[in-house]
Amino acid sequence: MTSAKRSSPAAATKTNFDAIIIGAGFSGMYMLHSLRDKLDLNATVFEAGDGVGGTWYWNRYPGARCDSDSYVYCYTFDKNLLQEWNWSERYPEQDEILRYLEHCAERFDLKPDIQFGKRVVEATFDDQTQLWTVRTDKGDVATARFVITAVGALSTANIPQFKGFNSFKGKCYHTSQWPHDGVDFTAKRVGVIGTGATAVQAIPEIAQQAKHLTVFQRTPAFCVPARNGNVDPEVTKARKADYDGIRQRIKDSFFGFELNFMPKSVLETTPEEREQEFDRMWDTGGFSFWLANYQDMFFSKEANDVIADYLKRKIRSTVNDPVVAGKLTPTNYPYGTKRQPLDTNYFETFNKKNVELVDANTDGAIEEITPNGIRAGSKEYPLDIIVVATGFDALTGPVKQLGIKGRGGRVLAEEWAEGPQTYLGVAVAGYPNLFMITGPQSPSVLSNMPVSIEQHVEWISECIAHMRRSKLAAIEATSQAQEAWGAHVAEVVNATLMTGANSWYMGANIEGKVRRFLPYLGPEGVGGYRRKCAEVAEKGYEGFVFTAHDQTARPIAA
Ligand SMILES: Cc1cc2nc3c(=O)[nH]c(=O)nc-3n(C[C@H](O)[C@H](O)[C@H](O)COP(=O)(O)OP(=O)(O)OC[C@H]3O[C@@H](n4cnc5c(N)ncnc54)[C@H](O)[C@@H]3O)c2cc1C
Repeated sequence: MTSAKRSSPAAATKTNFDAIIIGAGFSGMYMLHSLRDKLDLNATVFEAGDGVGGTWYWNRYPGARCDSDSYVYCYTFDKNLLQEWNWSERYPEQDEILRYLEHCAERFDLKPDIQFGKRVVEATFDDQTQLWTVRTDKGDVATARFVITAVGALSTANIPQFKGFNSFKGKCYHTSQWPHDGVDFTAKRVGVIGTGATAVQAIPEIAQQAKHLTVFQRTPAFCVPARNGNVDPEVTKARKADYDGIRQRIKDSFFGFELNFMPKSVLETTPEEREQEFDRMWDTGGFSFWLANYQDMFFSKEANDVIADYLKRKIRSTVNDPVVAGKLTPTNYPYGTKRQPLDTNYFETFNKKNVELVDANTDGAIEEITPNGIRAGSKEYPLDIIVVATGFDALTGPVKQLGIKGRGGRVLAEEWAEGPQTYLGVAVAGYPNLFMITGPQSPSVLSNMPVSIEQHVEWISECIAHMRRSKLAAIEATSQAQEAWGAHVAEVVNATLMTGANSWYMGANIEGKVRRFLPYLGPEGVGGYRRKCAEVAEKGYEGFVFTAHDQTARPIAA
């Protein structure tokens, strides 16, 4: 923790930096702390929102909460911070997570170096000076040796372009652009578009308030119960005493949790034996069913079907109307290949009299938004409020929007038209000194993200420290290393069932987006990926080339 509070005038008055960080969520905040307080660099953050928190600043819809267990959904780099913060629930609500991030911003005195309300619209690399020039929508122009994107994987809203969208006379909200003073659903006819992880959280909450709720479903979700609740103070105490161990275990794990697959094929078990295991995971709640199931779940369709069958039976035994239960039951993709929604009374909600399901396959897809509601399957559903829970243009969307121009004026958004091309998901050939935190082709959204964020921040910081020690001006991934990484990412995922779903992991939720598996599902998970990144560094940053400082280059200043 920094000893004295910074009284420096707004960073806005400076225009030349060692590093410009874009985004002030978990990633950007730690990146700033790391570069500024550990390396003593001159760094600034541009953040589009008016406060810190990223995801937790924007996503304020009813029911918004994390679904990583709170004791690991936090920073672990600071032992004192781990000891002083207490989470109230297993999965705290949005406002509690935002309070935590606000606390971190205060604790590490970050705000003086964050420029709020400024969206980066362009970042251009100059081949001569080897510096980046970054522009914001507020007219700022700043230069820096390094640009670090901390823009999040899920921060660009996906707003489907339904015919007639602007004609709707009622109110319409995307879940990630939720009004800060909330939305009152009392006595209202509400339509929710989407049934992914966000909608699964929001629907039961909205149904409690609204006069009538119509849910427009394109693809049904496999849900497992969250089993949220207050954290027992004794459990918190024990975890605090063991945080060194927890930190090590989540860093070495497959997905950044204290969860590991069962080293067994489900097909080798008896029906009684596996039913017992399924019941145990179901009762435990959370991600166990998804990430600590039998190890062949993601590899064998036959194994996957056995596991999916359990969840389908749960839907049928929860939903009273067999026709509605049928519509809510996934049929056309393997279990686990879409983001696992955790639910609290999701399926039960469809037993309520004021809740109606409109399924695109059986009732008809949305045709248009009308002044009075939504028309689907030739029927108009009258509504006062539409909630658009259609998620995000994941992973590539936020990076492509940055207007990044690299060496020789090459345009990143154009080069990624056919899918992302990166080395380790952290760098891009042709874009020197540009780093991405949890970028595409890194474990990112396939992990408990703070674990992956800390790993990237620490790797990038060490790389910059190495460059300063060695008086190097620029680092750039080679195109050979990039191609090999892209091939590896594809090869690994093609051996699994993950490509078999129209998921946002595949870019399938965005019209016109190329279908390409976007994150990295490493054969040894986040632990293996961490080791790979460390090995690259140990081998003198294998797969990268450096440019030494010449007289014209501005040194990386302390
Ligand atoms: C509803 C929801 C629940 C989630 N729950 C979990 C969970 O339980 N576990 C988990 O691991 N992950 C979860 N995630 C993923 C979550 O995004 C990450 O855990 C984490 O918050 C990401 O932090 P970040 O700083 O990388 O990105 P973000 O929190 O997305 O922050 C990025 C910031 O960059 C800013 N930004 C973007 N573009 C620009 C620009 N051009 N100029 C300036 N600023 C810009 C944005 O305004 C934003 O504030 C959830 C995501 C959502 C949407």
